[in-house]
Amino acid sequence: MELSAMLEYQKLDKEMMALENELMQSPIAREYATSKHALAVAQDQVIKQNRDAGDMVKQMEGLIAEYDALEKELKEAESAVPDVADVNGADFFIRNVQKLISQLKNLASEIGKMSAKIVELNQNHAATMAAGKEAKKKFTQCKEPYDVEKEKYRPAAAALQQKIAAAEKNCSEDFLNVYKRLRKMKKFPVIVPLANGRSCGGCYMELAWDTLVTLDSKPFIECPSCGRILYKD
Ligand SMILES: [Zn+2]
Repeated sequence: MELSAMLEYQKLDKEMMALENELMQSPIAREYATSKHALAVAQDQVIKQNRDAGDMVKQMEGLIAEYDALEKELKEAESAVPDVADVNGADFFIRNVQKLISQLKNLASEIGKMSAKIVELNQNHAATMAAGKEAKKKFTQCKEPYDVEKEKYRPAAAALQQKIAAAEKNCSEDFLNVYKRLRKMKKFPVIVPLANGRSCGGCYMELAWDTLVTLDSKPFIECPSCGRILYKD
């Protein structure tokens, strides 16, 4: 595979990126992207809130069941009043009833906290739904003018895409894999010339002597530091 074919591929890819950027920089595309993002955020929040609500309802049911059981226990304890003469029994009776009452109080406080949380979640949910509705409205409004704007770029993008497809045929699969992986990681340009005769032109890491020697016998190597494809200018 020729280095020139790889560089040609990168040049076309760069042109495509510039075209995409141009479209994305337009006010309508920005608005479209913003409303799309806001809509996705609201949708995620609704899913999370629904899950939280389910968890809270379950916890609340558990607390109420615990409260009911304890209340029953207290009633039973209170109904079994010991003989006045039974000092130990009376002491136990009082302590037991007090303990149950205190447990009930704690549970009541937990139930109160949980119901406050549920009220708060409901309020947040309503706010999220309102924000989501607004985002959806904006998104729908933007969609059409955005599509019109995008359409303007279509002929140029299609022509470029054709050239890219043709250039891809001149490149090896290995190269394309490396290229696309680095591109995704925003390491662009992917193919860079050696800088100052000894550093990577992408990450500027100084190369080891043996790596430099390899570059004398090969048209290109992978930078050991950033993975970019390095060649000698
Ligand atoms: Zn590098």
